[in-house]
Amino acid sequence: MSLVTALYASPSQHLLSQAPDHPVLYFAPSVLQATAKRFLAGFPGLVTYAVKANDAEEVLENLMAAGVEAFDVASPFEMARVKALMPSAVLHYNNPVRSEAEVATAIAHGVASYSVDSMGELSKLVRCGVPLSAEVSVRLRLPVKGAIYDFGAKFGADPEHAVTLLRAVAEAGFVPSMTFHPGTQCADPAAWGAYIETCATVARAAGVSLSRLNVGGGYAAHRTGAAPDLEAIFAAIELATVRAFGAEAPALVCEPGRAMVAESFSLATRVKAIREDNAVFLNDGIYGGLAELPILGNIDRIEPVSTKATREGAPVERVVFGPTCDSLDRLPGLVPLAGDLGEGDWLVWHGLGAYSTATVTRFNGYGAIEVVTTDRLS
Ligand SMILES: *Cc1c(COP(=O)(O)O)cnc(C)c1O
Repeated sequence: MSLVTALYASPSQHLLSQAPDHPVLYFAPSVLQATAKRFLAGFPGLVTYAVKANDAEEVLENLMAAGVEAFDVASPFEMARVKALMPSAVLHYNNPVRSEAEVATAIAHGVASYSVDSMGELSKLVRCGVPLSAEVSVRLRLPVKGAIYDFGAKFGADPEHAVTLLRAVAEAGFVPSMTFHPGTQCADPAAWGAYIETCATVARAAGVSLSRLNVGGGYAAHRTGAAPDLEAIFAAIELATVRAFGAEAPALVCEPGRAMVAESFSLATRVKAIREDNAVFLNDGIYGGLAELPILGNIDRIEPVSTKATREGAPVERVVFGPTCDSLDRLPGLVPLAGDLGEGDWLVWHGLGAYSTATVTRFNGYGAIEVVTTDRLS
């Protein structure tokens, strides 16, 4: 699929001509394809996309067009969606907990790689007849800081248990591998380094030579301040792998979700009302496209768009509420927004392609978000 010319050049062109009263997500395929090519060119190994960050068909199609051929899927729905768009796609099923019916679906889809963090789940793969040509990765967890929230709280085996599991994977006859996820929005390259080193220690202790090492997702997106330096993280991963494994270095795999897709969508919310106390009410909030802000913190990449003025007045710190009648529907803390912001203006939140459409609810009748394709996002 080549890049089609979008109907609108930018979000502000659409907002000013259509004046939508509902929230709109602007999608720039050119930005997504450029990010995919950055990962493909820069990451020293296989690039897979973690579908849960945004499973929209137009996202998957543009990633495929850019050259992504392998996908990290967590459910039968995600498997079917990827395969329907690209029958030759390689599937990695890295949700380490599965029902027997889910394993059967994975076998039917020809899943190439599975992850495990418990003996029970490994036995289930054997019992359900996963072919021995499949790769099975032992998922490691460490008490590592650096990300906004800790994925180790739910999944992963401690190093000692990982040794036992890795041995069992090899004894069962599967292709042995290891994986980890440093936690999402992880800006610290040292987090990957610590995991890679421990994976090497675990593999040596188990006496197993890893065919591959999947260094997970977690790459940070641009939410505040300067854009994260992805290439510095790629270099740190490569260096840590050579240092830890030497001549035995396994092939690398990564599975970015957030950093792959975040930058290719911007969310336009409309100012419904501004109260006497300066509090702003928007037409979308934490049950819609801004769901992650209470967890990850506010974004400072907010662009006001108005039919009336440029809205460049000195910023005022404001309480910002979403549209529902639930008092939790409020962004954390205070958000600095133009002092001359007016009702009917829009606020365009940049970098909202990940975990936005994927988690939207229709709570209180809100959450219907239109998607409009644009050539660029600013
Ligand atoms: C969610 C997830 C990812 C993607 O994480 P990001 O922080 O969005 O990059 C990758 N791998 C697995 C196993 C996941 O569950």
